[in-house]
Amino acid sequence: MKNKVILVVLDGLAYETASTCMGYLHALTAQGIARLYRLECELPSLSRPLYETILTGVTPVLSGISHNGITRNSTQQSLFHRARSAQLITAAAAYHWISELYNRTPYDPVRDRFTEAPELPIQYGCFYHRDHYPDDHLLLDAEWLRRRHDPDLLLIHPMNIDDAGHKAGFDSSAYRNAARHADATLSHYLPEWIANGYRIVITADHGMNNDRSHGGTLPEEREVPLYLIGERFSQAPHNGIRQTDIYPLVLTLLGIRECDNADLGGLIREVGA
Ligand SMILES: [Zn+2]
Repeated sequence: MKNKVILVVLDGLAYETASTCMGYLHALTAQGIARLYRLECELPSLSRPLYETILTGVTPVLSGISHNGITRNSTQQSLFHRARSAQLITAAAAYHWISELYNRTPYDPVRDRFTEAPELPIQYGCFYHRDHYPDDHLLLDAEWLRRRHDPDLLLIHPMNIDDAGHKAGFDSSAYRNAARHADATLSHYLPEWIANGYRIVITADHGMNNDRSHGGTLPEEREVPLYLIGERFSQAPHNGIRQTDIYPLVLTLLGIRECDNADLGGLIREVGA
């Protein structure tokens, strides 16, 4: 296994909910297999702007993807672009906005829902366009992509936590249970991914508030988890990780970018160390 990365973006998952409801991920941290960090998302705390931040390292103000209604291609060099330039294989099981940002826009479900297009930045995709598309189905889509195409970079992006938050709010059993369900679903796949040596990054775009929305600066909207799983991670304490650090972190994990401990605060071990 060389340099393969699985990036999981759990849409709308607040840090506090992750730290209290994700029992399996917490067990991995207790075993020293994973480490949980807290980071503040960039602003506004909205989905499409922050997909762009996670996948390009560029903040919404600078990327111009400043709200969810902007349906153009990104103008940045995303993780998918950089991976393709390095002859790596890319795949995503994700909401259709990801296809719009990095492959083709507007999204045409007949053409794009199942993507097999080696010439595109995301070569292999299973995209969905309903917020209640079940997370366990989405994970099955992702696992199918992983087994069929053996991607070097696989993005997995389920939506049910965010969907529950918009219906019931941050402080609700429905929102918390959606997080618990995502944790249990991930626990079905993580042991094999870990055993196969994947470098696994699990995070969220933004959190959720009690008004059943997000976009601003409340802690529950802005604080999101970052779980790092795999032998390349130092698991050192770190309080200053930014959402824009995920992009260089993943590039380093993929072997595209030289490891630079200074700017990533020692999150990654030297190869062979
Ligand atoms: Zn949302």
